[in-house]
Amino acid sequence: MDSAVGVVLLEALRSTDTPPETLEAEDFTQSLPRRLGLSGVIERQIERYTRLEEEGEGLEPSAAEDLFRLISRREDSGDVFRRAGRDLARRELRSRGIGSKALSWTGPTVLTRWLALRAAARLARRVSPVASVRTDRNPPSLVVEGCLPARACEGPDGCEVLAQGLETFLEAYSGSEAPVVHPMCESASESACVFRVASASEDRDGRGAEDGPGAPES
Ligand SMILES: [Zn+2]
Repeated sequence: MDSAVGVVLLEALRSTDTPPETLEAEDFTQSLPRRLGLSGVIERQIERYTRLEEEGEGLEPSAAEDLFRLISRREDSGDVFRRAGRDLARRELRSRGIGSKALSWTGPTVLTRWLALRAAARLARRVSPVASVRTDRNPPSLVVEGCLPARACEGPDGCEVLAQGLETFLEAYSGSEAPVVHPMCESASESACVFRVASASEDRDGRGAEDGPGAPES
């Protein structure tokens, strides 16, 4: 298991727990005790995993599963997992010398979708090393059998890492937002976790019809 995944999950936990600067000092001290991400334990663990990463050492898959499970118990687990997915994808893009909006093309095309799906498949193999990962052309999707986040979290929230990773790659390669849906999840007894580019009408937050191609001007 790639120790960078552990580092990014812990950093996402810490970032989510860091209060905005505008927060009043008294609120901060009141909320501090439940801010697990700011505790010394997390800091030491980040240091440990960073050292493993630098030394090219892997992480025990069970340690990664524990981490996914721990985060999934939080109310804001979706935020933490989305942040981790975005950060993992951005690290990967940076290591390839690609900015977060590298190619200002007009939107997802067959080519940019394929590039993004391939990058997301590599990311899925890092997050879930024992899984069988493939990409499908029609509809353009990422299929993960034996998905570690789904197993560890016993729910779909950990899969946000992969959904958000794919979304970040799509955005980088196509230059525009392309929401990703996760219609099938192993945590719901499906045969695989499937991630697919949403069509304009099924935008997760219902804005798709306005933002999508061919939408009427308002
Ligand atoms: Zn899933």
